[in-house]
Amino acid sequence: MDVPYWLEDPTPARTNGKLDGRVDVAIVGAGVTGCAAALRLAEAGLRVRVHDARSVASGASGRNGGFALRGGAARYDVARETYGAERAAAYWRWTENALDRIAELAGDALQRPGSYRLAGDEEEREGILLEYEALREDGHNAEWLDDVPGGAAGRFHGAISHPRDGSIQPARFVRRLATRATAAGAEIRENDRVEDLEALEADRVLVATDGYGHGLVPELADLVWPTRGQVIASEPLDSVLYDRPHYARQGFDYWQQLPDGRILLGGFRDVSILDELTDVEETTPAIQSSLESFLHELAGRKVAVTHRWAGIFGLTQDMLPLVGAVPGRDGRVWVAGGYSGHGNVLGFACGELVADAMLGRDAPHLELLDPARFSD
Ligand SMILES: Cc1cc2nc3c(=O)[nH]c(=O)nc-3n(C[C@H](O)[C@H](O)[C@H](O)COP(=O)(O)OP(=O)(O)OC[C@H]3O[C@@H](n4cnc5c(N)ncnc54)[C@H](O)[C@@H]3O)c2cc1C
Repeated sequence: MDVPYWLEDPTPARTNGKLDGRVDVAIVGAGVTGCAAALRLAEAGLRVRVHDARSVASGASGRNGGFALRGGAARYDVARETYGAERAAAYWRWTENALDRIAELAGDALQRPGSYRLAGDEEEREGILLEYEALREDGHNAEWLDDVPGGAAGRFHGAISHPRDGSIQPARFVRRLATRATAAGAEIRENDRVEDLEALEADRVLVATDGYGHGLVPELADLVWPTRGQVIASEPLDSVLYDRPHYARQGFDYWQQLPDGRILLGGFRDVSILDELTDVEETTPAIQSSLESFLHELAGRKVAVTHRWAGIFGLTQDMLPLVGAVPGRDGRVWVAGGYSGHGNVLGFACGELVADAMLGRDAPHLELLDPARFSD
C-alpha cells in the first residue's frame, strides 16, 4: 500500500559501468536533477559517479503528483513583481523549452494534454485572473475558462488552461534518464548513502537531494526546508472524468486521472501544515482522510484507495531553486535543488543548468538562482 504507484513500473535494463578511482564529478542523489546532470556531464566526456542512498527515482522523483508544468512555483504575475518582468519571462520560457526537451527524451513517460489551474473561490479567481493576464501580456500561451469540462464542471470559480503542460510518469522518465546517463559512461551506485562530502573521491561534488539529505551541506540547512507531501491513488474508474492534471487552492490540491483510469490525488498539506515541515517519509491519518474524502467527491462515489505514500520536497524562502556553487567551498561543492514542490520540469532544467555551469558553458538564470542570494 505504501509503495508509490509510479515505482511499480518495471525498471529498464541499464548497463552500469564501474569507474575506478577518482572522478571529475560525484553527484549525490539519483532523482531527476542528479540523472539530468549526470547525463549532461557524461556526454561532455567527464567521469561522473552518482551515489544514491536508495535507488534511482526513489526520492520525490518517484513519489510526486506527476504534473509536468511550465513555470516556477510562484504565480507568474507574482514572479514578475518579485524577480522583475524580464527575468520572469525568460524563466518561464526556459521551463517551456525544458518541457519540450523532456518530451524528446521521455517517450511514453510524458503526455501533453495541458493542465487546469482552478480557482477554489472568488478570491483565488481574482488572483489567477491576474496571472492569466500577465501570461497573455508577455505572449505566453494560456486560455481563460469560466468553467471547465469533465468532473470539475460547475465546482470551481474559473480556471487557466495551460495548453502545453503535461502529465509525466516521473519514475519511468528518470529511470530512462539514468539508462542514458550510464550508456554515456556515468556510474550509478545505488544503496550508497553519502555521509561526508569530503570523503568522496571526486574533484567536484554536486548535491542533488532536493528535500532529502538535510544537513549534508550545513550551510544550506536553513535555506532548503524539507517538506512532506502525501498522495493517494484510487482503483481504476471506468470513465474519464479528468482528462488532464488539475490543481486548485494555490496548488494545495492536485489530481489527475491516469491512463488506466485511476485518480491520483495529492495535497491537503494545509490540514496540518507545520507537521508537514519534516523529512519523515510517512503518511498521516489526518491528511490521508482529507485526501480520501476529496477523492470520493472527485469520483462522485466511494472508490477504493489502492496506493498511499509520502515524499519529501525542498522548500525555499523565495520559492526559487538554489543552483550553483555553494559559497565558501572553493568551487568544489555545487547544489541544485529546492524546487518548492515544482521539480519535475525544473529539476530536469536545473540538472542541465548546473552541469553546464560546471562545464564552464553559458548558463542563464544562475544569478537568479545563486545559492549565495540569501547571504547578508
Ligand atoms: C508528494 C509530492 C508531490 C509532488 N508533486 C509534484 C508535481 O506534480 N510536479 C512537480 O513538478 N513536482 C512535484 N513535486 C516535487 C518534485 O517531485 C521534486 O522537486 C523533484 O522530484 C526533485 O527531484 P530531485 O532529483 O532534485 O530530488 P529527489 O528525486 O528527491 O532525489 C533525491 C535523491 O537523493 C538521495 N539522497 C538523499 N540524501 C542522500 C545521501 N546522504 N546520500 C546518497 N543519496 C541521498 C535520495 O535517496 C533521493 O533518491 C512533488 C514532490 C512531492 C514530495
